[in-house]
Amino acid sequence: MPRKQVGSYILGRTLGEGSYAKVKYAQHVDTGEAVAVKVLDKAALVRSNMAASVKREIEIMTKVHHPFVVDLREVFATQGKIYMVMELVPGGELYDQIIANGALQEDRARKLFQGIMDGLDCCHRHGICHRDLKLENILLDADGNPKLSDFGLGALPRSAEQEDGLLRTSCGTPNYVAPEVLARQGYDGFMADLWSLGVCLYVMVAGKLPFEEANMPTLFRKITKADYTCPPWLSSGVVDVLSCLLEPSVYKRATIAKLRRHAWVQQDYVFVDGGARGSPLRTTSGDSDDLFRESADIVVVADS
Ligand code: ATP
Repeated sequence: MPRKQVGSYILGRTLGEGSYAKVKYAQHVDTGEAVAVKVLDKAALVRSNMAASVKREIEIMTKVHHPFVVDLREVFATQGKIYMVMELVPGGELYDQIIANGALQEDRARKLFQGIMDGLDCCHRHGICHRDLKLENILLDADGNPKLSDFGLGALPRSAEQEDGLLRTSCGTPNYVAPEVLARQGYDGFMADLWSLGVCLYVMVAGKLPFEEANMPTLFRKITKADYTCPPWLSSGVVDVLSCLLEPSVYKRATIAKLRRHAWVQQDYVFVDGGARGSPLRTTSGDSDDLFRESADIVVVADS
């Protein structure tokens, strides 16, 4: 079978597919390093008004560097495509693991929760909200550690919609979205992420969504009232963490600082900090195309 090389990478099998991208296994031609390459079709992005979202995703992933956040290594473009070279996260989506095996043991859920919380905290300390935190966007590495991914809906500090410090775009996945996002009156993206973190924890320990209704108005009503029930096997500790996060009032909802002091969260907790990027994001200079006209750091190489 002919091998397809783009830039310094030989592309292999498809690892996953999103709405606007294919993610492929790839290997560096010289070093043999295995990576995941997100391949985006420029024309399709422009057609579907997704160019800004991809630029934002790249900007966010360039800023955040944390062991529990997928690392972006390099970005380059050909005439028709954009390639985002990321660390390879081989364990698949946490969502699939729960669908296959059901609820996790609380100890395992706690370990994952601590990692997701630290990764999210690193984003927040850079002024970045994820806005689509859900188990489908948490990948697992070879050691079973979580890695936050898919920053396509992420919000950067001082984004245009944020003049008063509040975000306005109602986005995210309905079952994971906070009540104040549904209310469409401007919301604090950091606190909205914490609600979604609570939904993630619930799914991990209960094996199902806390709010699930085919009828959208009913779903929204249940979210707004935090109308959920916990399975009887949950410990009082995790039930309490859930009630601190699935709290409709943003003023009463737990912050990450408060979560870290919670007895259930604290158990066997080792804080994992982010750091400076080990090496700068590798981008190559040259002609940029329409999509990336502002950034002079994308090289155009021949499409193969
Ligand atoms: P969406 O439509 O959900 O926004 P997307 O188009 O932004 O998706 P991603 O969610 O980033 O695409 O990736 C699609 C899938 O590819 C993921 O669900 C995952 O299975 C796989 N994938 C993404 N990044 C990696 C990675 N770094 N390592 C391994 N697999 C990955």
